[in-house]
Amino acid sequence: MPEKLQTRCVIVGGGPAGMMAGYLLARAGVSVAVLEKHADFNRDFRGDTIHPSTLELMHELGLLDEFLKQPHQELRELRGVINGQTVPIADFRKLPTRCKFIAFMPQWDFLNFLSSHAKRFPTFQLHMETEVVDLLVENERVIGVRAKTPQGELEVGSDLVIGADGRHSTTQTRAGLEQREFGVPIDVLWMRISKKQDDPEQSFGFFQHGKLLVLLDRDDYWQGGFVIPKGGFDEIKARGLEQFQDDIVTFAGFLRDRVVELDDWTKIKLLTVQVNRLCDWSREGLLCIGDSAHAMSPAGGVGINLAIQDAVATANLLAEKLRRGPVSVNDLRKVQARREWPTRLIQGMQVFIHRRVVTGRTSGEKKSLPFVLRLLKWFPILRQLPARFIGIGPRPERFRSPNAGHIS
Ligand SMILES: Cc1cc2nc3c(=O)[nH]c(=O)nc-3n(C[C@H](O)[C@H](O)[C@H](O)COP(=O)(O)OP(=O)(O)OC[C@H]3O[C@@H](n4cnc5c(N)ncnc54)[C@H](O)[C@@H]3O)c2cc1C
Repeated sequence: MPEKLQTRCVIVGGGPAGMMAGYLLARAGVSVAVLEKHADFNRDFRGDTIHPSTLELMHELGLLDEFLKQPHQELRELRGVINGQTVPIADFRKLPTRCKFIAFMPQWDFLNFLSSHAKRFPTFQLHMETEVVDLLVENERVIGVRAKTPQGELEVGSDLVIGADGRHSTTQTRAGLEQREFGVPIDVLWMRISKKQDDPEQSFGFFQHGKLLVLLDRDDYWQGGFVIPKGGFDEIKARGLEQFQDDIVTFAGFLRDRVVELDDWTKIKLLTVQVNRLCDWSREGLLCIGDSAHAMSPAGGVGINLAIQDAVATANLLAEKLRRGPVSVNDLRKVQARREWPTRLIQGMQVFIHRRVVTGRTSGEKKSLPFVLRLLKWFPILRQLPARFIGIGPRPERFRSPNAGHIS
C-alpha cells in the first residue's frame, strides 16, 4: 500500500519556479508540499543568474541582506567579445532597482537559501528524492500525484497540483496538455575549465562568425557553454578532442594552457536546447508554470527570472483563495493570462537570437560589427534598453500575496 498524504497544494519540482511558489504559498499560510526528484540541488546544468528584478523581490521579502552574504559575483555591465572586439551590450547601473547588477550565484546555493527560509513556515514541506510518476485523476479533475521515493510509493492528494518540473515535465505530459514547439537550431556543450587569478573579467560571451562560447565565473573555475548547431556533437567528436580544444582557444586565447583539462569526452556534456509553450497552462486541479509551461533557451539568460515571475504571479492570484479552499480552472487561467505575453515576447526574442545572432546568418565571415552593436558602442544610453529587458524583463511582478505564515 502506498503511503498517503493530503495537502492543499502539491508542487512538482524544486527548481526556481517550484521553490519560489512553495515559499510564497507557505508564507501566505497555505499548506504546501514541494516534491523534488533529486537528493540535492547540486546539478551543473542549471543557470547561475539572479536578476535585479529577482533581487528586488528578495528585498521585498526582507531576505536581500542575508542573500547577498552568500558567495556570488556582481555583474554591472554585460560585454561581449565579438569577432575580437569587446562590445558593451547592457549597462545595469541606471536600472530603477535597488541592486543595479546581475548576481551570479550557483543555482544550488540559491535553491538551498530559498528552501531553508521556506522551511521556517509551518505549512511548508519539502520532500527530496521524490519523483512524481503520475497524476491522480477523478472525474476529469486532477486530485493529486503519485510519486516514487526510496521508501516506496507515495500518493499526495491536493486541491491543486502545480507542475514546476521543468523542460521534461511529467505533469504536463501526463495531463495531456498540448504544446507548441519552436524549432531551435542550437545545442550547448557544457564543461568546466579551471580559472587563474589574472584571467580577464567575466563577459557575456565570445562570438566569432556566428559561433559562441559563454564563460560563467564560478569563482575557482569557468563554467563553459559552447554553442553548436543542433545535432552537431557527433561531427565534433569525429573531428577529435584536440580540434575541439583548439576551437575553444580561438575564442578565448587565455585558456590555451588549460584546454588539455578537457581530455575525455565524458567531461563535455551535451545539453539539448528547447523552446516551446503550452497552449493551455492548466486544466481542472492542475497548473503548469516555469519551464514546464514554456521551456526557455539559455539565450539572454532570462529563464530563471521568468520562472520566478510566474511563481510570484501564481501566489498573487491564487494564495488567498487557496487558503480558503479549492480554486477553479478559471482562477488558474488568470495566471496564464497574466504571464503569457511576457513569455511570448521573451521566447520571440530568443528565437530571433538563435536564427540571426548565434547561428550567424547575418554575421558571415565579416570582421565588422553588426549595426545594432555599433549603435550600442557609440551611444552608451542605448545600453539601458537591453539592461531593462534582461535585468527586469517585461511585466515584472510585485508581491501581493498575503504574509500570514507564522515563522517557526
Ligand atoms: C544549458 C542551459 C543553460 C541555461 N542558463 C541559464 C542562465 O544562465 N540563466 C537563466 O536565467 N536561465 C538559463 N537557462 C534556462 C533556465 O535553466 C530555465 O528557464 C529555468 O531553470 C526554469 O526553472 P524551472 O523552475 O521552471 O525549471 P527547472 O529549473 O528545470 O527545475 C525543475 C525541477 O523539477 C525537478 N523535476 C523534474 N521532474 C520531476 C518529477 N517528475 N518529480 C519531481 N521533481 C521533478 C527537477 O529535478 C528540477 O529540480 C538555461 C537553460 C539551459 C538549457
